[in-house]
Amino acid sequence: MPELPEVETFKRYLDKTSLNQIIKDIKVTDNRILNIDEFHLKKFLTNKKFKSSNRHGKYLLINIGQGYLIMHFGMTGDLEYFNKKDDEPKFSKIIFHFNNDFNLAYISIRMFGRIDIAESIEEFIEKNKLGPDAFKMSLEQFKEALLRRSGVAKNLLLNQSFVAGIGNIYSDEILFRTKIHPKTKINSLNESKVKELFTNIKEVLQVGIDKKGDLSTYPNHFLITHRTKDDHCPVCKYEIKRIEISGRHGFFCPNCQKE
Ligand SMILES: [Zn+2]
Repeated sequence: MPELPEVETFKRYLDKTSLNQIIKDIKVTDNRILNIDEFHLKKFLTNKKFKSSNRHGKYLLINIGQGYLIMHFGMTGDLEYFNKKDDEPKFSKIIFHFNNDFNLAYISIRMFGRIDIAESIEEFIEKNKLGPDAFKMSLEQFKEALLRRSGVAKNLLLNQSFVAGIGNIYSDEILFRTKIHPKTKINSLNESKVKELFTNIKEVLQVGIDKKGDLSTYPNHFLITHRTKDDHCPVCKYEIKRIEISGRHGFFCPNCQKE
């Protein structure tokens, strides 16, 4: 599932390919993906340009001058820039036709992605109750977000209103690195553990961005490469355990991450 590093990769791809070209037309092949009606979306975008883009958590926010086009990539989303002579990518849900004969396809195999519009980034963040972006937040913002929270560490990292951008895979990695059991009560962490957690959030996401979210290329000492049953901890060789918390499955090392 696209988490923050994957969406950052989409952002950079969009910046490299699709900025500053006039959008001639928009083809919606499946309007279940839209949070707004199709007519409104087309009116909003036709003859405009993607001027710049922002990312907040797992959302891509594209500035079109008089507002933002919002993309969420759900479970399987992707972007592809292609020439009009090329075949349309499979599972394209929306295609933006530019005046240079190129197109940008928003692809989603399943129906979980979402397209929306917003007046401003601030309005969008508030409406969706998103916490600070996990990669861009300061230590002070992180500490402030923690102040009002209880609950267990794994749940909190997944909670987008706490910090935005972390999903299942990266939350496991962050907790593994910080040697925190997934069920640890967040308000039991001392000051130095909180700092360590913050540092590891940044480092794990940075590696994810550098790897463009490609999980198969992670080094062996990451838990990410050992997220299967019967595999062993890359640090201590203990058997990796699977855990279920509030319906979400995670992996951890019971020896490195003691309760
Ligand atoms: Zn271990």
